[in-house]
Amino acid sequence: MLEIKNLHARVADEGTEILRGVNLTIEAGEVAAIMGPNGSGKSTLSYILAGREDYEVTEGDILYNGESVLEMDPAERAAAGLFLAFQYPLEIPGVATMTFLKTALNAQRKARGEAELTTPDFMRKVKASAEELKIAPDMLKRPLNVGFSGGEKKRAEILQMALLEPKLCIMDETDSGLDIDALKIVSDGVNALRSEERAFLVITHYQRLLDYIVPDTVHVLYKGRIIKTGDKNLALQLENEGYAQIVDEAA
Ligand code: ADP
Ligand code: MG
Ligand code: MG
Repeated sequence: MLEIKNLHARVADEGTEILRGVNLTIEAGEVAAIMGPNGSGKSTLSYILAGREDYEVTEGDILYNGESVLEMDPAERAAAGLFLAFQYPLEIPGVATMTFLKTALNAQRKARGEAELTTPDFMRKVKASAEELKIAPDMLKRPLNVGFSGGEKKRAEILQMALLEPKLCIMDETDSGLDIDALKIVSDGVNALRSEERAFLVITHYQRLLDYIVPDTVHVLYKGRIIKTGDKNLALQLENEGYAQIVDEAA
């Protein structure tokens, strides 16, 4: 589904490369984790996958279902099934969560050349998803993320993900600052959405999240390169030994 080939990238207008030759393949149905110390380029990789303009690819390619996404803007990538969950969800005062979700879903349908959902059709869909994710309908009437607890923000995000039905979900340190209850909300949501057609790229600094979202593969990103790939046991090894030994081996 996703093939990252020799990816080099930097912040636009700045000289230093942040990604220095990333190679990574993710199959449909796979849950891949990327771990790595702070500053290794994890967020940069997720921004580049989402198509953020202030980052620039200088070499290599990103193929999604065999086609390069480098020329696609963020809306086109979202329409094609890419979804990026933010580390810090945005608050939008004055916009009810329900309205936000409807706008997001209809923008995606429009970009795909599909008809917009009518309000009753949308309501049916959002209610079904909310129920499946055990989200109280009351939350949907409140302005998006305004005054939400950490757990509620995560519920709103998981609900958005469920509605948009992405093919590849990229979650960048979505666990940072979460208490154990919010962590459970995220992982239960992700686990409910796992399927043979859908892949996840879960970026995390800590192993804890991977106790709940058990990954098929674990990659270690260090100084802009993948220096080791393994299965879920690699995450446990990192938790016990830290990054030093793997960094030494790679050197
Ligand atoms: P991680 O998510 O693994 O902590 P980042 O991708 O955030 O790593 O950052 C990787 C490196 O790139 C860091 O050294 C960081 O300072 C630098 N960097 C990231 N974004 C920018 C930016 N917008 N401007 C300048 N440097 C940046
Ligand atoms: Mg960081
Ligand atoms: Mg980061």
